[in-house]
Amino acid sequence: MGRLDGKVAIISGAARGQGAAEVRMFTNEGAKVCFGDILDGEGIKLEAEVRELGGEATYAHLDVTQEQDWRQLVELTESKYGRLDILVNNAGITLATVGIENTALEEWQGLMDINMTGVFLGTKHAIPALRRSGGGSIVNISSTAGIVGIGRSAAYTASKGAVRLFTKATAIQHAKDNIRCNSVHPGPVKTPFIQELLDNPKQLEERLTRVPLGRLASPEDVAYGVLFLASDEAAYMTGSELVIDGGTTAE
Ligand code: NAD
Repeated sequence: MGRLDGKVAIISGAARGQGAAEVRMFTNEGAKVCFGDILDGEGIKLEAEVRELGGEATYAHLDVTQEQDWRQLVELTESKYGRLDILVNNAGITLATVGIENTALEEWQGLMDINMTGVFLGTKHAIPALRRSGGGSIVNISSTAGIVGIGRSAAYTASKGAVRLFTKATAIQHAKDNIRCNSVHPGPVKTPFIQELLDNPKQLEERLTRVPLGRLASPEDVAYGVLFLASDEAAYMTGSELVIDGGTTAE
């Protein structure tokens, strides 16, 4: 028995990193998954890997800032797998730029389009399909930077704070539809997202002094939390925040 038997999920930004770990874990637990990204080569490879292991996953090109891409992905999911039960809004970027004064307006807007507007568009287009299934679960990937003002990029922190509260508004508006919505707040996770840190052992060591568990999260450490919130095990959870940060924000 899989924890997601019979469920159909969409995961954004899932060609690599945490999203890819969720594709593997969800299909392993019996879900059928449509996943999207802008990295088509990596997405196609992951689809083949999952199918080889007997899982059911379909990759489609998805730029989360494009409403038409979301429309098409939800249509594809319903036509291919017959329903939609779960949406994971996972795609996200950060800025290399340090400091508000050095952030160009175009950089700010580009980040907001992906991290914030992308979550809005995914939610907007998934809701009618979730309602047709009798309800479902939306999991939005925020960050510890969505809870406290850490992080070198104010734009990133602001965008993840917005995701945190958009999650609560979604939960309140759609409880009547039996659609749950929760946010996940990872600390530093070992993915290409923090490549600069991974390439700089001194900086990494310094960063880890601020993590009580003393290590980075693996993509699976976070995916287990997402799996729980996506599944019926979290049936009474909505509008809540799941912090997976090795104790970072406890201090
Ligand atoms: P990652 O860079 O490996 O994965 C992010 C994915 O999003 C990539 O595959 C990327 O191609 C995709 N993406 C970027 N722009 C997109 C767009 N316009 N449309 C569709 N897909 C797009 O990083 P990750 O660590 O797996 O990040 C996943 C989520 O976790 C992000 O929302 C990130 O902000 C968040 N997060 C990461 C960390 C960390 O330390 N890695 C910590 C807290 C939160």
